Amino acid sequence: MTKIAFIGLGNMGGPMAANLVKAGHAVTGFDLSEASRNAAAKTGVSVAGSIAHAVREAECVITMLPAGAHVLYVWDELLGFVDPGTLLIDSSTIDVDSARKAHALAEKADCRSLDAPVSGGTGGAAAGTLTFMVGGADDAFARGKPLLDAMGKKIVHCGDVGAGQAAKICNNMILGISMAGVCEAFVLAERLGLSHQALFDVASTSSGQCWSLTTYCPVPGPVPTSPANNDYRPGFAASLMLKDLKLSQQAASTSGASTPMGAQAAQLYSMFEKLGHGGEDFSALIHLLRGNDEAKPG
Ligand code: NAD
Repeated sequence: MTKIAFIGLGNMGGPMAANLVKAGHAVTGFDLSEASRNAAAKTGVSVAGSIAHAVREAECVITMLPAGAHVLYVWDELLGFVDPGTLLIDSSTIDVDSARKAHALAEKADCRSLDAPVSGGTGGAAAGTLTFMVGGADDAFARGKPLLDAMGKKIVHCGDVGAGQAAKICNNMILGISMAGVCEAFVLAERLGLSHQALFDVASTSSGQCWSLTTYCPVPGPVPTSPANNDYRPGFAASLMLKDLKLSQQAASTSGASTPMGAQAAQLYSMFEKLGHGGEDFSALIHLLRGNDEAKPG
């Protein structure tokens, strides 16, 4: 049993904290939102009234927050209240530079730290089947892994500080580009009189095969469980796709990498969000590419 403080009990953090409780850990949580605090209390999380109270006796602190600025703010505050040697794990999706700054804050306070973003969405968080991409030193990873095992089914140690966030944004840049490509292919097929099913049957067993096609197929029919069959309800919201693409472009700019396809995908999703579709599944981008009224402002 480990004493864990969990800060950020939202859509992802709430169910992740609940799985740590189920695994027998003593979890004390804090969130700014009363609704999130109340929901967490119902799953057995002991809710604290402040970050200071939540982390006071913790052997490990996990954060699951919206963006880099939130993580740096919260880590800066909580490091004033934890014992040296405490393990800090951030599972939010944030920019690589902020992740490295967070590690530096922890090191200055003689704490150990991991960046450990996830994929698998809210379904994976609830089911305890997330994939964790982890950056940090070997000893910190060895300490964190049993806790991550309680929330996920695949834990990959990607390298040193920031490597988890780097893996996450590289993967999601592939995803954004591949979904745009799959959407374009279906739009072209429509113009050429080729049926959705025929394109799917060929591409899903040929070199065009990819997750965006075979799991999140952007037209209704070929993959009955894809969001296209559920009125494009997410799934993975277009606004979250845009957030990750922006992180990839920020990292490309600071590292000097050339990512023209990532830049193009970021522009497409930015346009789609500005037209009011950020809350739809990211596969709904096909409406924008068709140039039809469904993707124009209402
Ligand atoms: P969310 O908005 O539901 O939860 C974030 C929580 O952080 C909120 O409840 C908010 O009140 C809390 N918070 C913000 N500032 C705080 C502070 N200073 N102190 C305490 N609590 C604070 O977001 P989410 O969907 O749970 O996502 C969290 C992170 O996980 C994001 O970085 C997101 O990109 C990433 N992520 C989300 C998904 C998904 O499908 N939702 C999938 C993978 C990764």
